[in-house]
Amino acid sequence: MSKALVLNATYEPLCVVPVRRAVVLVLKEKAEVLHATERTLHSERTAMPAPSVIRLTHFVKVPYRARAALNRRAVFARDDNRCQYCGAAAENIDHVIPRSRGGLHVWENVVAACRPCNTRKRDRLLSETTMTLRRRPGVPRELTWVAVAVGSVPSLWEPYLHPALSA
Ligand SMILES: [Zn+2]
Repeated sequence: MSKALVLNATYEPLCVVPVRRAVVLVLKEKAEVLHATERTLHSERTAMPAPSVIRLTHFVKVPYRARAALNRRAVFARDDNRCQYCGAAAENIDHVIPRSRGGLHVWENVVAACRPCNTRKRDRLLSETTMTLRRRPGVPRELTWVAVAVGSVPSLWEPYLHPALSA
């Protein structure tokens, strides 16, 4: 894994950065390593374990975080890369209420879908098919940006993302 999770000084997850960037922050003493991997990074003068989770030394004020951007990658992350009609590997984005029938391009109306389901549903409403949704689509929970940044959340990051659960 070539990405590192960055926590604020308060341990709140902030963002995901390339490992090289994390190393720079640590070397400049702007961050401390909370968790390192077994991989070693070599630079001109030093060698250090590749950081996986770092914490900023100083608190960074985070501006209001906007509603997660709606795009294919984010929808796939929210839906665990699974077709929301049959559970197969997702390949497309499907509008539950088709755009041709007035459906909007919003979180509540888009799901990840496999190609066969996408083709089968066409421009019909769900009520005109025998298909059902596995769960009702909605705006993703706050930490979806982590999954979006790295594809899926590495298990060793879990305790840092949900401190209340692991405490
Ligand atoms: Zn499907």
